[in-house]
Amino acid sequence: MVLSDLGRRINNAFNELQRTPTVDSASVDQLLKSVCSALLESDVNVKLVADLRTKVKAQVSAMLNDKSASNLSEAQRRAKVQKFVFDHLVQLVDPNYAENNAAAEAASSSDSKGGPSAAVPQPPHSSGPSDIFKPKKGKPNVIMFVGLQGSGKTTSCTKLALYYQKRGFKTGLVCADTFRAGAFDQLKQNASKANIPFYGSYTETDPVAISSAGVRSFKANRFEVIIVDTSGRHKQEKELFDEMREIDAAVEPDLTIMVLDASIGQAAEAQSRAFKEAAGYGAIIVTKLDGHAKGGGAISAVAATRTPIMFIGTGEHLTDLEPFRAQPFVSKLLGMGDISGLMDKVEEMQMNGGQERQREMLKKIEEGGTFTIRDWREQLSNIMSMGPLSKIAGMIPGMGAMLGGGGAGGENDEAAGSKMKRMIYITDSMTPEELDSDGSLFTAPIKSAADEGGEDEEGEEEDEKEKGKGDSRKALTTVQEMKKKKKKKAPVKVRMTGRARRVARGSGTSVREVEEFLMQYRMVAGMVKKMGGKAGWLKQMSGGA
Ligand code: GDP
Repeated sequence: MVLSDLGRRINNAFNELQRTPTVDSASVDQLLKSVCSALLESDVNVKLVADLRTKVKAQVSAMLNDKSASNLSEAQRRAKVQKFVFDHLVQLVDPNYAENNAAAEAASSSDSKGGPSAAVPQPPHSSGPSDIFKPKKGKPNVIMFVGLQGSGKTTSCTKLALYYQKRGFKTGLVCADTFRAGAFDQLKQNASKANIPFYGSYTETDPVAISSAGVRSFKANRFEVIIVDTSGRHKQEKELFDEMREIDAAVEPDLTIMVLDASIGQAAEAQSRAFKEAAGYGAIIVTKLDGHAKGGGAISAVAATRTPIMFIGTGEHLTDLEPFRAQPFVSKLLGMGDISGLMDKVEEMQMNGGQERQREMLKKIEEGGTFTIRDWREQLSNIMSMGPLSKIAGMIPGMGAMLGGGGAGGENDEAAGSKMKRMIYITDSMTPEELDSDGSLFTAPIKSAADEGGEDEEGEEEDEKEKGKGDSRKALTTVQEMKKKKKKKAPVKVRMTGRARRVARGSGTSVREVEEFLMQYRMVAGMVKKMGGKAGWLKQMSGGA
């Protein structure tokens, strides 16, 4: 089952739980049955899945028997169950999660106030590539790649070189694969495409000599990130491992990365252990997670070896390399967004051209200012220029699910592009006052009918028409509320839909889309606020890769 399907299946199971009137062992059993069978179909190890089931069941049963928790509402219980499952899914892809986040868990379990969002823990405590390895500016940092032929090693070398180049490092590639005919040509072609200097030889047959000479030459030219691609096959496994050790001794890498193809599923564990013994690598890149049925199995199997996954490969393009962070990964998988991934993209953008506005915005947030709708609009326009949109869209909370994908590796670029364009149109129809607000203008009680520029019964009729077109349930409720409130002379929410309706009309969208836009903006703003100040993503952004 491809990852987006896995996410969708688990999400559906959560939604089913939302629809059950009471949280009891039967409804939780049903939830776990669906979650576990989805995981098994994704080739996750049976023992790991059984372990998840047992642990969640124990937590749920403790919650149901806990007298002090008897005053929890059903919504709060549901949120807690979701959080139990969510946390165990994160542990599947990061066994250190439980230890690292004990404090965070204690805090979140005491403020679980109900509703799905309460069930979803968010960064700032996500680790990422820079926690695993942070190249030093102004110094040579040598990275050696190992892995079997066909795993995506050469492609990943170039992807990583591009990643660091975009973050302002002077980066070069060395091809030390002399075994496979055409390896140098492939690296040369990829490197040229990405405008990355490369080193290799058509005549030299000794990989140790090439790698030493390549690294020496790049060091002499003050390169900061030097990536060495090694061979992935030999006549005998022993020869391959011997060669790896010799290259290692010659170039003395600061980091050795192993590349693993997701299609091997849970066999990744054995392969990973074999390479670990031979090459002593420090981090892993799991490739081909775009659309491989065994992706969940591969990631959880690698995680079981407790070697950090640094990146995941999500496509054949050179930009299809995503930093791996367990918690945002699961969040995105379930269609709940990945703000830290989005921030990575922003960081990349900032390094490339250093947009002044971006810096101003960060400074404002650091000083406690509001992340406004205008700020969100700018982020959206920037994101749209980054592509591929289907992948980036999955990072925006709620957007992956809206596009019909579970999040990771969403398929539909066109749909994502048009969805984002419509979001921009919505902001185009907002007044400067609305753009510079935190969105509360759309929900704040408005005292005078004149405030909204004459939204009146005519507007109500339009809402009725929209009802006919099948607009959101929320919009319908609002129409009914409007009628009720009109009778009671307490027009609290009438003005809110007035604004939303005006924006919808001006932008050629629907009230539902405007409300969805505001909902997403609020989620993003809430997360930005949480991660704001000197901590979290600001630090990430100013600290380089
Ligand atoms: P190597 O032999 O390990 O160096 O593998 P290559 O880099 O030559 O990759 C083998 C094939 O896998 C190529 O066709 C790549 O385009 C493809 N590939 C590499 N990474 C990914 C990925 O993340 N997703 C997909 N779909 N294909 C990939």
